[in-house]
Amino acid sequence: MTKVCILGATGSIGRQALDVCRQAGYAVSGVTAGSDHAGLLEICRDYGVPRAALHNKEAYDAFIREKSSAKAYGGIEGILECIRDCGADIVVNGIVGSAGILPTLEAIRSSGRLALANKETLVAAGSLVMDMARAHDCMIIPVDSEHSAIFQCLADNGRKYLSRIYLTASGGPFRGYSIDQLKHVTKEMALQHPSWVMGSKITIDSATLMNKGLEVIEARWLFGMAYDEITVVVHPGSIVHSMVEFRDNSILAQLGAPDMRIPLQYALTYPERKCNNYKKLDIYKTGGLIFEEPDTDAFRCLALAYEAGRAGGTMPCVMNAANEEAVGMFLEGSIGFTDIPEIIERVMDAHEPIEADGIEAILEADSAARAAARNGGRI
Ligand code: NAD
Ligand code: MG
Repeated sequence: MTKVCILGATGSIGRQALDVCRQAGYAVSGVTAGSDHAGLLEICRDYGVPRAALHNKEAYDAFIREKSSAKAYGGIEGILECIRDCGADIVVNGIVGSAGILPTLEAIRSSGRLALANKETLVAAGSLVMDMARAHDCMIIPVDSEHSAIFQCLADNGRKYLSRIYLTASGGPFRGYSIDQLKHVTKEMALQHPSWVMGSKITIDSATLMNKGLEVIEARWLFGMAYDEITVVVHPGSIVHSMVEFRDNSILAQLGAPDMRIPLQYALTYPERKCNNYKKLDIYKTGGLIFEEPDTDAFRCLALAYEAGRAGGTMPCVMNAANEEAVGMFLEGSIGFTDIPEIIERVMDAHEPIEADGIEAILEADSAARAAARNGGRI
C-alpha cells in the first residue's frame, strides 16, 4: 500500500490531501501541524495515523496529555524526525510559509516523491531545493493548480519545445480596483476570495497578487524558465488553470473546476489518473473565457516579485519573508492593505543579495527580513 506523510495536515491543503488519500486507498503514515493539537488528534483517530508532530511546544504537550495511540513528536526537530520515521513513498508539503523549508529538504532526503504545495519553499530556497532533489533522485510534483496545469500540459510533450508559460490569476476580490480604492480595503473584504476557499495567508496573497508573484518564481524553478518567458494573465473564471506555448506557437491549456483535490490527486497518483467524485466542470456554464493583463501599478506585489526573482540570490527569500510578516501585520489589524507592498519594497531596497545556495544564508536572510518588516521596513 502506498504510504503518504502529510505536512500541514490540519490546513486547507492538508485536509484535502487526507480526503484524496482516503479515496485513492493510500495509507497516511504521519501527519504534522503548527499548533492545532485538537485537529491533529482528531485526524490521527479518523485516519488511523501512527505518527504526529507539532511544531509548537505547548501544543505538543497538550497532544501528549490526550494519550493518543499515535507516536508524538515536538518542535522542528520532531517534524523532521517524524518525516524520517514515516518511510513514506510520498510526502505532501501543505505547510504555509518559509516554515516549510527544512521539512521540504528532509522530505527530499527521505522520500522518492514530494507533492509540493508550499510555494514559499521554492521562492526562498529554489536553487537549493532543486539541486537536492536532483542529488537524491526525488521527484517534485507541484500541487499548486497553475503548476500542476503546466506539469500536465508538458507531461506528454517534452519540455524541449516549450517557449512560454502563461500563469493564470483569478485577479482576486479587488480586480479592477484603483490604488485609491485599495487603500480602503479591510481584512474582511480581503478574506473573501471569489473562486477558492484557502488558508488566510494565501487568501491575502491572492488579493494583493503576491500569490501570483510567488508562483512566477515557483514556475522559474520547477520548469527552468527565464522570467521573460513567464507571463501572468488575469482570468477571473479560474477555469483555465494555466497554459504552455511551444515554439511552433501552439498553446495547450489545462481546464477543470476549481477543486484543489484534482491537482492533489494528480500529484499523488501520477502517472495514473484515478476516478473520483470531485467537482466536474460544467462546460456550458463557463460563460466565456476572459483574459486580461494584470495592473502592476495598483498591484505592486506582482512587480516586486519579478524584481526579486530577477535580482536572484537571497532577494526572493527576503521578499517572501517581508511579505509573510506584512500579511501577518495586516491580519492583526496593525497596517493597511496598501502598506503591504510598501513594507516589502523598503525591506528589499535595504537588502544586498548574496548567493542563496546554502541553508544558513537562506535562514539568516529570512529572519533579518522578518525583523526589518516588523520594524516597518527599516533595518
Ligand atoms: P493553512 O493555513 O490552511 O494551513 C497551513 C498548515 O501549516 C496548517 O496545518 C498549520 O498547522 C501548518 N503550520 C503553520 N505554521 C507552521 C509552522 N511554523 N511549522 C509547521 N507547520 C505549520 O494553509 P493552506 O491554504 O493549506 O496553504 C498551505 C500551502 O499551500 C501554502 O504555501 C499555500 O500557498 C499553498 N497552496 C494552498 C492552496 C489552497 O487551496 N489552500 C492552493 C495552492 C497552494
Ligand atoms: Mg495557485
